[in-house]
Amino acid sequence: MSFSDRIKKWQKSYKTWQEKELANAKVAQEKLRLEREEARRKQELAKKEIQETKCTCQACGHVWFYGKKEKVEQDSNAMANAGKGLMCCTCSPLFLLVPDKKVVDLDKCPKCNSRAIKKETVVHHV
Ligand SMILES: [Zn+2]
Repeated sequence: MSFSDRIKKWQKSYKTWQEKELANAKVAQEKLRLEREEARRKQELAKKEIQETKCTCQACGHVWFYGKKEKVEQDSNAMANAGKGLMCCTCSPLFLLVPDKKVVDLDKCPKCNSRAIKKETVVHHV
C-alpha cells in the first residue's frame, strides 16, 4: 500500500468517524433540548397552579386557608410525634427531653376551636 493510499484510507475512516460523532452529538443535543423543555413545562405548571384548602367555620363564620406546605408539615410533625411516642415505650429517658412539636390542627377553627368546619379545595391560577 502506497503512502497516498494510506492517507486516503485514513481520511475516509476519519470522515466516517466524524460523521458518526456529529450524528451522536445531534442526538444528544436533541435529547437535552427535550429534557429542558420538559423541565420548563413542569416548572410552569407548578407555577401556574397553587392548590389550597378553604376552610369555613360553621360556628363563627371564620374563613381561612391552608396550602399544601402546611398539610405536609402537619403530617411530618404528627409522624415525628408518633415516632417519639413509640420510642418512649423503650423507656429511653433522652426522648423525654425532646419537646413536642406543635401540630397545627387543621380540622379546628383557629378562632373559636370549633370542629364544625367546611373544607373545600380551591386552585389558584397564577
Ligand atoms: Zn370558628
